[in-house]
Amino acid sequence: MNARDKPSVPLAAVREEIRARPGYHVPDSAGFVKLDAMENPYGLPRELKRRLAGLVAEAALNRYPDAQGRELKAALRGALKVPQGMELVLGNGSDEIIQMLALAVAKPGAVLLAPEPSFVMYRIVAQATGMQYVGVPLVDGYALDRASMLAAIGRHDPALIFVAYPNNPTGNLFDAAAIEDILHAAKGLVVVDEAYHAFARASFMDRLPDYGNLLVMRTLSKLGLAGLRIGLMAGAPELIAEIDKVRLPYNVGVLTQLVAIEVLRHSEVLEAQAAAIVAERGRVAKALAAMPGVAVYPSAANFILFKLPEAARVSAGIRQQGVLVKNFDGSHPQLAGCIRVSIGTPPQNDLFLAALTASM
Ligand code: PMP
Repeated sequence: MNARDKPSVPLAAVREEIRARPGYHVPDSAGFVKLDAMENPYGLPRELKRRLAGLVAEAALNRYPDAQGRELKAALRGALKVPQGMELVLGNGSDEIIQMLALAVAKPGAVLLAPEPSFVMYRIVAQATGMQYVGVPLVDGYALDRASMLAAIGRHDPALIFVAYPNNPTGNLFDAAAIEDILHAAKGLVVVDEAYHAFARASFMDRLPDYGNLLVMRTLSKLGLAGLRIGLMAGAPELIAEIDKVRLPYNVGVLTQLVAIEVLRHSEVLEAQAAAIVAERGRVAKALAAMPGVAVYPSAANFILFKLPEAARVSAGIRQQGVLVKNFDGSHPQLAGCIRVSIGTPPQNDLFLAALTASM
């Protein structure tokens, strides 16, 4: 090879379906009011930060973390009221747990099924793990289509079903009775993804003992620890033990475990912030609903989906004024004209509402 020739890069070795899809794009948010990713806008109290700094300074960074995360699991069990007899698996965010689930069940031809529109990672992970993805459209007002879900379960016998409760990006809670029907009908695993539990309060956690195929997934991300990357899933010990086999041994680092345990000792701080976010959600929804041409969807989460003419142009206008929201126009037929805004602090929400008004 001539020293000046560019070496050839063996892209052909990468699976076709991976090469064919775009990467998951996360926009650069430096300098923006960030209302695009459902983060908690409040920081931790100074005293708690100081204690965390001390713990971090003393952490044994030369050692691998506790591979089982025993102390963190014990703290989570208490904080999340995991029923007696149920086991937990920890992930580097719940994203990683979605991937573990798919890796564990991805027999040739296995189906991953989810209502649509919902969290995009279900489809992305299905593709990445070679599973077949089946999306079942939601109906009016983004409700679960019980009959279509049950028919699709009968037809495809999915190994894995995801139901986000509340749903992202629509924000609503599906009918709990319809989810129970899905649990009865499904022969595979049914994951109720409760990422937004802190703002919804509704949960399937206490129904775990009733269904062997139910798994309840949570995350600390929306509660205020998105940067730590901690997801967890509760379920029957036999099932969790199998999922745990595909988890990489040290997926939750020393600092992450340490900080999460300490913050969970003060979970009332995060609960109070969640309550403030819920109050602001009501105020923002009301302000949006009062704007001409804007339709607001009910939300049980820390974000609001709304629909208006020229959503792509309007969200670019909002961005130009320094506020990041998520434009869903063009991403899915049922999300035409839709923008999702995460709930921030009251001043951030005011900035968003002003930017929206100026962009319409
Ligand atoms: N599930 C749902 C429904 C989500 O919306 C998200 C985040 N957007 C996640 C899971 C993943 O969250 P994390 O990996 O931060 O735990």
